[in-house]
Amino acid sequence: MPYGRQHITESDIEAVIAVLKSDYITQGPKVPEFESALCAYTGANYGVATNSATSSLHLACLALGVGPGDTVWTSAITFVASANCAEYCGAEVNFVDVEPETFNMDIVDLEKRLVRAEAEGRLPKIVIPVHMAGQPCDMLEISRLAKKYGFRIIEDASHAVGAEYLDSKIGSCKYSDITVFSFHPVKIITTGEGGVALTNDLNIAKRMARLRSHGVTRDQSEMSSLPHGAWYYEQSDLGFNYRMTEMQAALGISQLARVNEYVAKRNTISDQYRNLLKAEYIDKPIVKPNRKSSFHLYIIRINASSPKMRNEIFEKLRADGIQVNLHYLPVYRHPYYQNKYGYNPVDFPNAEKYYCQAISIPMFPSLEKGDLAKVARSLLAPIGHQTIF
Ligand SMILES: *Cc1c(COP(=O)(O)O)cnc(C)c1O
Repeated sequence: MPYGRQHITESDIEAVIAVLKSDYITQGPKVPEFESALCAYTGANYGVATNSATSSLHLACLALGVGPGDTVWTSAITFVASANCAEYCGAEVNFVDVEPETFNMDIVDLEKRLVRAEAEGRLPKIVIPVHMAGQPCDMLEISRLAKKYGFRIIEDASHAVGAEYLDSKIGSCKYSDITVFSFHPVKIITTGEGGVALTNDLNIAKRMARLRSHGVTRDQSEMSSLPHGAWYYEQSDLGFNYRMTEMQAALGISQLARVNEYVAKRNTISDQYRNLLKAEYIDKPIVKPNRKSSFHLYIIRINASSPKMRNEIFEKLRADGIQVNLHYLPVYRHPYYQNKYGYNPVDFPNAEKYYCQAISIPMFPSLEKGDLAKVARSLLAPIGHQTIF
């Protein structure tokens, strides 16, 4: 039993086959159709689909002008891509500690670091909050601080397709400049590999679209000279090939039609786990008011009252055939970041504690009641608890 997996239907397969039999397998009508569908779903004005969320995060940083001499902050607990995107641009990366209960960027710590950075004259250009496990961050507070300290916001919403904050869907960009989704197979919906950057700013969208495809433009208004003929295009910036294929977009369109169903099922599984895992030594995830989690991950914490260490419990689950995982090693602990910046773990006490306690247990829509019972049995039994399964 893996911790996450894709759900592919016959209609998904038919949608991909139809593209393979059509005239375009790349740069055809499906990518713009997928982008429009994502905008309709989230309420964002523009979407630029790419071959991964990592590429989308890179384009997002470039479109906001990140370069050498700039600083970008992200959450201490996230996948490395949330930080690497700034490294690709030659910027410096730093981290903000997480809240103990949600593992999202901690607003109190963020503000403390901003006050210090302002005094030292090295405020971040961009802050990248991560909606950890699918629970939206405190975006009102982060956008209030963005106005006060003059930084821009990229939401890494790789976990949060279908999540909601106050009265809007994550992806609406109501409280940010750009929001990025991932369509990797373990995420909420999939295109195999893929990502999108959503924004309400036309110029940002145009810049990302150009950089996605070699920095090349065919739009005369963006050219430095008159076209020499109908074949003419110009490269204005150094871009990349970060394009999504038509097969991927067709799969994405088909999957997006079921996103609400998937998020509802994940929330049901969360409720079922909550009932099954009634043990004092297991802290279950909480969802803060005014938001809906997409429950990309179900992260429990083995707290100090446990008679067994987290690692023992983790290994027992694995030995029982349950592919639990740990999301994530705090980014500042990776050798690349240690060697380059040498950040001190004591500056991130909540991330450190989280890292000692967390386990991601299986969470995906096709999990059955029997699977959940098996996970619960494995989690509760080795500790001598009576189980009733
Ligand atoms: C999965 C993930 C990414 C990267 O997504 P890809 O589509 O695999 O590039 C970035 N950030 C977070 C938080 C993720 O979970």
